[in-house]
Amino acid sequence: MHLKALTLRGFKSFASATTLRFEPGITCVVGPNGSGKSNVVDALSWVMGEQGAKSLRGGKMEDVIFAGAGGRPPLGRAEVSLTIDNSDGALPIDYAEVTITRTMFRNGGSEYQINGDTCRLLDVQELLSDSGIGREMHVIVGQGRLDSVLHADPMGRRAFIEEAAGVLKHRKRKEKALRK
Ligand code: ATP
Ligand code: MG
Repeated sequence: MHLKALTLRGFKSFASATTLRFEPGITCVVGPNGSGKSNVVDALSWVMGEQGAKSLRGGKMEDVIFAGAGGRPPLGRAEVSLTIDNSDGALPIDYAEVTITRTMFRNGGSEYQINGDTCRLLDVQELLSDSGIGREMHVIVGQGRLDSVLHADPMGRRAFIEEAAGVLKHRKRKEKALRK
C-alpha cells in the first residue's frame, strides 16, 4: 500500500486544482517559506478525517477554505482527494485503488466519499484504522514536532508511544471512569 496522489481544490493556498503524484519511496516537497508545503501535509490529515482546527494550524474549520489572495476572491468550498494504491489489499475494501474525498462548504457542511460513494466520517476512519495511516496514528510529524519528541522527558516519551500504539484513548477512558 502506498499513497499515489493528492489533489487539492480550494484548500488553503491551493485555489486552483493541484495534483501531487507520489511514487513508491521517498517524496520531498521543497519550496520557499510560505509557499504551501505544510498546507500539503494539512491536506493529508484533513482528507483522512482530522477534526481539530488547531491540528490544521487554523482557528476554525472554515480556515481550510481558500480565503482569497493575489486578487482572487475567496472560494466557497475546499476539496481534497487522496488516492491510495491498495493492490496488496492492506485496506479492507475490494478495490486495487481507493480514493478518499472530503469536501467542506463555507456554511459548515462537510461530505466524505470513498471511490465516489458518499459515506460517513466513521467509514473513512474504519477503512484506515488498521492500515497504519490515518488521523489517530503518529505518522504525521509536524514542523517543530520532532524536537518535542526528541526532547521529551520519560513521561512525555511514554505518552507519544502510547498514542502511537493506540493505548492513550483507553487510558483516558479509564481515568475518566475512575473519577466518577
Ligand atoms: P515554511 O517553509 O515557512 O514552513 P510552508 O511552505 O510550509 O512555509 P505553508 O504554511 O504551507 O508554507 O503556507 C502558508 C501560506 O498559506 C501563507 O501564505 C498563508 O497565507 C496561506 N494560506 C493558509 N491558509 C489559507 C487560506 N485559507 N486561504 C489562502 N491562503 C492561505
Ligand atoms: Mg511549513
